[in-house]
Amino acid sequence: MNKPLTPAQTDAQRIPYQKPQPLHMRPDLVIHDAMALSAHSDSRAWVPLAERVAVRPLQFNVTQGQYTHLMRVTKAGMIARHRHSGGVHAWVFKGRWHYLEHDWVAEQGSYIWEPPGETHTLVVPEGCNEMITLFQVTGSLMYVDPHGVSTGYDDVFTRLEKARAHYQAVGLGEDYVERFIR
Ligand code: FE
Repeated sequence: MNKPLTPAQTDAQRIPYQKPQPLHMRPDLVIHDAMALSAHSDSRAWVPLAERVAVRPLQFNVTQGQYTHLMRVTKAGMIARHRHSGGVHAWVFKGRWHYLEHDWVAEQGSYIWEPPGETHTLVVPEGCNEMITLFQVTGSLMYVDPHGVSTGYDDVFTRLEKARAHYQAVGLGEDYVERFIR
């Protein structure tokens, strides 16, 4: 039977990987204080999309046509109706929301997957004055009217350009967005 390792033996095994990383590997990406909502943090990283709707980019993945962000909505009401060309992972950190096309309500702690091809209408219910959700979106959102007629679209490239313009406008500089691009 093996004896349990002593702390010194355990430490001796704590050796970082000794070989080079793959030549074409992209750098890792770490964002501390990603919510940046406290009084002392810099809230300029949040990009306003509409009245009381803002997103905090985490990654713009231009090679997979994907983006990951936190969305923060500080009002109740309809936010957007859209059709997805790719799938979406969502994780609710605060508040709640639902789609008019479904009978479930996403709440703090909920994980949701949205299938490619689905059209849905995002609503923050009355009584919820703050929702924060992490969305990882692949492909595009095509904005539509209730009958599916297109009124516009967003994808990683339009979101990236909105973020770039915002960071320029608030004094962070347009290059600030580069740190989120992989
Ligand atoms: Fe959606």
